[in-house]
Amino acid sequence: MMNKRNILITGGAGFIGSHLAEKLLRTNNYVLIIDNFREHREEKRHQLQHILENYQEGIDFNIIEGSLLNPEIFEKIEKNIDIIFHLAAIAGVRYSLLNPTVITENNICSTVNIFEYSRRCGKKKVVFASSSSVYGNPIYTPVDEDHPKTPISPYAVSKLACESYCDYYFREYSIPSTWLRFYTVYGPWGRKDMAIRKFIERVLNGEEIVIYGDGEQLRDFTYISDIVDGLILAAENEDADGEAFNLGCGNPISVNELVNKIYSIADRPKNVKYIDAKKGDVRVTHSDITKAQKKLGFSPKVNIYQGIKNTFEWEKEYLSM
Ligand code: NAD
Repeated sequence: MMNKRNILITGGAGFIGSHLAEKLLRTNNYVLIIDNFREHREEKRHQLQHILENYQEGIDFNIIEGSLLNPEIFEKIEKNIDIIFHLAAIAGVRYSLLNPTVITENNICSTVNIFEYSRRCGKKKVVFASSSSVYGNPIYTPVDEDHPKTPISPYAVSKLACESYCDYYFREYSIPSTWLRFYTVYGPWGRKDMAIRKFIERVLNGEEIVIYGDGEQLRDFTYISDIVDGLILAAENEDADGEAFNLGCGNPISVNELVNKIYSIADRPKNVKYIDAKKGDVRVTHSDITKAQKKLGFSPKVNIYQGIKNTFEWEKEYLSM
């Protein structure tokens, strides 16, 4: 268990980063977040407030607000950082199709700035949040780390380019890094643009759910606490340096099955509309997590039914606040 370390989490005000911060604060680490609060500022503030309220006694926590695109931001870091979790990115396939230049600059240049910072401050380990989208439409399943990479959106291309930077700085400058390919992450405080959050909100508000395509696309939904465990395992493991790992659940379900589960938990009549599939969406995500299991000791614990139930209960409470 990681403790008493000085940890930088970029994008730490976001969905995954704030859960990671919460877990690392629980084990007496110093946590510094850098985030530009790009969207949903109020909800992010609310979530961070919630974390701080849980750990007011002896909390060792700081936030720098600003963009990693600005190299001067790194001058504001006061403590010597031991480990960097680089999660900051503009995440979102659809946004990237509409704004390819913005996403390319943001995701790739911020990653280069992180590695330059690591280089200056003693080659500190970087754990990078990559994505299963780097694989594109799979030619076989489950998808292992050696599967060909044929990304089909600027977002996915940006993640693949960042992986290349991880590899480059590892080979050329011996900066240790591990890049983790997350599969659709969900849970309390999930991103508002993601399907599970949107579906649950709509069901709770008595509104129609809109599904892109026929709903038979498969998704390897992975619960947030399992992803947080994977991030920490990778940070602690020197054998993982210079390598990629899939972090998924390994048991994909269709979007139709997901919707049925939400309606059964909500105990409400189904109200669904199907519209045309969107460009950039892959047909199947299905992770082979053998490598992460063997090398990192990764072992996802929350099954989809329990995960949706937890997320549903949280959303119900959140909407009533
Ligand atoms: P999120 O949008 O909730 O969090 C990302 C955070 O990064 C945001 O708070 C945003 O303000 C910040 N950010 C973006 N650009 C920045 C910049 N230039 N400088 C400082 N802060 C910046 O997203 P998330 O779902 O928590 O995802 C975290 C990471 O995991 C992202 O890199 C994402 O691409 C990756 N990922 C997420 C999923 C998923 O299912 N959620 C799947 C695969 C990969």
